[in-house]
Amino acid sequence: MSSADPRVRTRPQVETIVDLDAIAHNVRILCEHAGPAAVMVVVKADGYNHGAVAVSRAALAGGAAELGVTTVDEALELRRAGITAPILTWLNTSDADYGAAIAADIEIAVSSVEQLRAVGRAARASAAVATVTLKVDTGLNRNGIAPDQYPGVLEQLSRLVAEGVVRFRAIFSHLAHADEPHHAVIDLQRDRLVRAVARAADHGLRPAVVHLSNSAATLTRPDLAFDMVRPGIAVYGLNPVPEVSDFGLRPAMTFRARVALVKRVAAGEGVSYGHEWIAPHDTTVALIPAGYADGVPRALGGRISVRIGDRSYPNVGRVCMDQLVVDLGTDPAGAQEGDVAVLFGGAPGDPHAQHWADLLDTIHYEIVCGPRGRVVRGYTGQAGVM
Ligand SMILES: *Cc1c(COP(=O)(O)O)cnc(C)c1O
Repeated sequence: MSSADPRVRTRPQVETIVDLDAIAHNVRILCEHAGPAAVMVVVKADGYNHGAVAVSRAALAGGAAELGVTTVDEALELRRAGITAPILTWLNTSDADYGAAIAADIEIAVSSVEQLRAVGRAARASAAVATVTLKVDTGLNRNGIAPDQYPGVLEQLSRLVAEGVVRFRAIFSHLAHADEPHHAVIDLQRDRLVRAVARAADHGLRPAVVHLSNSAATLTRPDLAFDMVRPGIAVYGLNPVPEVSDFGLRPAMTFRARVALVKRVAAGEGVSYGHEWIAPHDTTVALIPAGYADGVPRALGGRISVRIGDRSYPNVGRVCMDQLVVDLGTDPAGAQEGDVAVLFGGAPGDPHAQHWADLLDTIHYEIVCGPRGRVVRGYTGQAGVM
């Protein structure tokens, strides 16, 4: 299509491009690691900032059986988009709109007696049966039913099941040390989960499904797959255990911006606020219209490079709210206004989100959740597109 085509809008200045075929590819890899266990793909936080609806469709096309989200609202967004696959929501306050979740056939995980009571009330009020899952805390000590609450939850659940307002489906838990495959706490948590399932059985409550593994455990601990695994980050092509293997994962997100300006800077001139970088010789710089308001952390100033064409150019000076500058060096033809500058991505030669994470002493999960504000999301690939 030519740029005169009225269907083609001007390309955004700063954008993320999500490769849906990479999502489907990564899910296929995770399905292989899961063996006979089903795969629930985690699309919380708008699909780790990749777009929950499009990612869900691509993931289902790649072999995912179910979807997992944090809140009821996130689950409802998927239903509104016409997604009919099973969806689990696992972190809501007791006053969440459980009625809407039940009406939309969303499976609800509870972490307390209070939350379970609220689900029961919503089910009674709507004369519909709620599907409930128990999220048990086996040692993460975060979300999940605390051990001292567990007996009370089981009693309450037995009553609600007997009353016919709740259908009990699953028990699951979440690991604290999944990215250290041989950590002893992993086995401790597995044993506690198995015991929680046995204690539910003592109350006549038999889950159809038990699950524990996130991405790291799916890839490194097949013995923990139970009936289903719950990968998130690996679906997006980012490896939680790079020291083990690359697993053939493909990063789905490319973060890029178009060069807004190219200019000469004379030797001795300072660039960007505070003049932290002084041109050592006459040079040419390119202005990249992406800054910390767009998800390029200010702490990366002077420490990253961008790819333009087949070359990599260093950022010089501070990252500002809306822009950063790269040094094209003695090659004034290195970039022109309108050229695409890749901040991070998955193609060969692209800077990698893992590198940003290493520089910032954080994890790539946080890096891909960064792009926001003016950043326009686009998609490539066909997986799940109808
Ligand atoms: C986020 C999350 C996952 C996915 O974890 P990854 O490390 O991204 O694979 C799985 N289960 C629960 C409960 C989560 O909150």
